[in-house]
Amino acid sequence: GYVDRHVVAEVISDCLPLVQHLLNKAEITVERDDRASRCVLMNRTELQQVLINLIVNAIHAMPDGGRLGLVSRDEDRDDRPGIVIQVIDTGIGMAPEVMQRIFDPFFTTKRREGTGLGLSISQTLVTRQGGTLVAESAPGKGTTFTIWLPEAN
Ligand code: ADP
Ligand code: MG
Repeated sequence: GYVDRHVVAEVISDCLPLVQHLLNKAEITVERDDRASRCVLMNRTELQQVLINLIVNAIHAMPDGGRLGLVSRDEDRDDRPGIVIQVIDTGIGMAPEVMQRIFDPFFTTKRREGTGLGLSISQTLVTRQGGTLVAESAPGKGTTFTIWLPEAN
């Protein structure tokens, strides 16, 4: 798709109305911290798709409510300027055996709404732009997905 430079906070703002009904239904509060001053180079629809995938996964992990953190900041990796975007939930978390497989195509633990493609596709899209997508999780406590993307200059 057509790649362009984007202010991440604007893309996050575009995503939230699409999931607002789910956030309301599950009584999830959103905590945003938009600190990135740099822009990223990506197809805007694809970046939105990645963020929606991560946000919907976070919502599914918090059926009894919780907090959704959406954080962005400038961060260099190996002397390359870039941006970090984090999607943080206070949900069910993941066991290490699950964590090992979450980026595999068609891997899902969901009985109904799961295709198991969200994270696999998201990782492919981010990696194609020279970035990374990783997860950290603690069972019963929550999960953090961290995207790093190089700065668009
Ligand atoms: P799907 O959502 O269709 O199951 P994904 O590729 O988006 O597929 O996610 C794969 C699996 O990773 C999920 O089924 C779930 O087990 C796990 N997972 C992803 N995000 C989270 C999260 N935020 N909290 C707990 N588990 C998660
Ligand atoms: Mg998913």
